[in-house]
Amino acid sequence: MLRTQVAIVGAGPSGLLLSQLLQLHGVDNIVLERQTSDYVASRIRAGVLESGTVDLLVKADVGARMLSERLVHEGFALGFAGRDFRVDLKRLTGDVVSVYGQTEVTKDLLAARVVAKGHLIFEATQVALEGLDGAHPTVRYTQGGKTREIACDFVAGCDGYHGVCRQSVPAAALQTFERIYPFGWLGILADVPPAAHELVYSNHERGFALCSMRSTTRSRYYVQCGLDEKLEAWPDSRFWDELRMRLPAAVAETVVTGPSIEKSIAPLRSFVVEPLKVGRLFLVGDAAHIVPPTGAKGLNLAAADVRVLYHALVEHYRTGSTEFIDRYSERALRRIWKAVRFSWWFTSLMHKFSDDPFNHRLQLAELDYLTKSKAAVTSLAENYVGLPFERS
Ligand SMILES: Cc1cc2nc3c(=O)[nH]c(=O)nc-3n(C[C@H](O)[C@H](O)[C@H](O)COP(=O)(O)OP(=O)(O)OC[C@H]3O[C@@H](n4cnc5c(N)ncnc54)[C@H](O)[C@@H]3O)c2cc1C
Repeated sequence: MLRTQVAIVGAGPSGLLLSQLLQLHGVDNIVLERQTSDYVASRIRAGVLESGTVDLLVKADVGARMLSERLVHEGFALGFAGRDFRVDLKRLTGDVVSVYGQTEVTKDLLAARVVAKGHLIFEATQVALEGLDGAHPTVRYTQGGKTREIACDFVAGCDGYHGVCRQSVPAAALQTFERIYPFGWLGILADVPPAAHELVYSNHERGFALCSMRSTTRSRYYVQCGLDEKLEAWPDSRFWDELRMRLPAAVAETVVTGPSIEKSIAPLRSFVVEPLKVGRLFLVGDAAHIVPPTGAKGLNLAAADVRVLYHALVEHYRTGSTEFIDRYSERALRRIWKAVRFSWWFTSLMHKFSDDPFNHRLQLAELDYLTKSKAAVTSLAENYVGLPFERS
């Protein structure tokens, strides 16, 4: 049987970052991942990092490539009613965001775990948690046809929305909060220069559209689509036509088209479970909460959970105190619910929910208000760059 202090299930950004920070602070850990390392390193997802996430990656010694390759954005644009309005993040908040793909963050974390000789076990299937209520939990898994066990003090469930950790908790011990949105995002990645040097979020009668990017030569574009849409119905030419129709004319003119290198449809949901600590299991990142991507908060929230948890565990092993690990759930949830609120609000403002023109008029009135009211646009900006971290 293997033995460690913290068994981490999942090698996504939250599992890898937690592993790296714990090891840097002398806390032994093992990461179990059901996919291969190559699969994990090539998954395409988020791309906008708050300064707090950037700082944590630097603290974890994985910031060097990010700091040299990221694109620093001091604002973004809101498109509506044929206009576009720039939200000047830097002027309104003094803060900025960084564009650096989650794929690159994951590659940097994987490389750092290899250099530090971290114990990562890939292609671990049939992961099962036992003894979470006692002092000595175990994690069982199968690899290469052999079943093995890890004895540990704590389990960190960093295994995403579909993972096994949250499902290992008796349903009566968790309260679930959920909103399913009646649409999804059809996204493509293409090696073409971005239409604008900052992100453009567009509210349009045909539905929402977003111009994003991963670098100065790689663009990420999305259009709101029905939940029953099939990718086969969206050849690249149809996607580009639909995107341009939904953007302000000045932005549409600058869209450079090209073959997609990835195309996918993602449903949108808001989801939170409480509490995030059950016995000796901590739920972290997407295992505990999902937000619609409109506010670019999913990856940033995962990093914020890790920040609270690694401090708590390090403090526990340093002093023997359980104060911070006992308060992990309460402290993480305070930030989570604010991000859930913001992501829900921004999604509600920018998407088409029905054919009812009353809703669209209300959205246009609120967008117009944002262009006139410093208070309103500052509220948007301070949530977008990430709220300050609370001390207690
Ligand atoms: C398609 C998609 C697009 C997204 N786009 C954006 C975006 O544009 N902006 C944004 O901010 N956020 C976005 N997100 C959200 C963001 O990517 C997530 O919030 C982030 O990945 C959370 O990291 P995580 O480590 O908590 O979970 P994950 O990245 O989901 O990692 C979980 C890991 O656990 C592993 N795992 C699962 N089950 C098991 C098991 N039983 N045993 C062992 N390992 C297991 C998985 O293979 C995975 O490696 C997107 C998410 C998805 C799915």
